[in-house]
Amino acid sequence: MDTKALHTITYGLYIVTAKKSDRFNGQVANTVFQITSDPPTIAAGINKQNLTHEFIQAGQGFAVSVLAREVPLSLIGQFGFKSGREMDKFAGINYKLSQGGFPYLADHTLAYLEARLNQTVDAGTHSIFIGTVTDAAVLLQGEPMTYAYYHQVKRGTTPKTAPTFTSARAEDKTALAAPKYQCTICNYVYDPVQGDPEHGIAPGTPFAELPEDWTCPICGAGKDSFEQI
Ligand code: FE
Repeated sequence: MDTKALHTITYGLYIVTAKKSDRFNGQVANTVFQITSDPPTIAAGINKQNLTHEFIQAGQGFAVSVLAREVPLSLIGQFGFKSGREMDKFAGINYKLSQGGFPYLADHTLAYLEARLNQTVDAGTHSIFIGTVTDAAVLLQGEPMTYAYYHQVKRGTTPKTAPTFTSARAEDKTALAAPKYQCTICNYVYDPVQGDPEHGIAPGTPFAELPEDWTCPICGAGKDSFEQI
């Protein structure tokens, strides 16, 4: 069996949010999809270990923010590589509430959908939450972020709890002249060929020449959290 076949499946990239009494949480998810149109029904696959899983069950619903392709990596880092058990995911985030009181991101978001939970399917490590859409709006015109674009163009990484997680080392066996460095916290790979133009680092900048105060564009870890791969 060649599990690389799984890599040919395409996905978007979303922030799934939920609430538990007066607390909010949210996380990055790629497994969000529409199931039926009448009534409009969507589903989201969420790891059982994640706080968002607990909040979706508690609040009996969830909201989905459809990310624009221009979304900064730091926003994906805040929702994808940090746990709501340790920090408020919405700190510094511009968000609004859907009709049912679920938070959605007001920036870098093409649209949001709110769903009332009507079925939960146990899928082993993950649950598939199926919900009827109860509120939705288009916020912005633009291209939606896709999982492929995030990995190929933005060089983003995937947390270990995501259904599509594979080790970056296993994926990338090509040795290049200038060594790449990988963040030990979030698995982001610094590729000197690409640099980090979003943060003023020109393509061709070796890792050793990055300023000492440069931090991981995804999780914010310092240079000492990186190791050569
Ligand atoms: Fe990182």
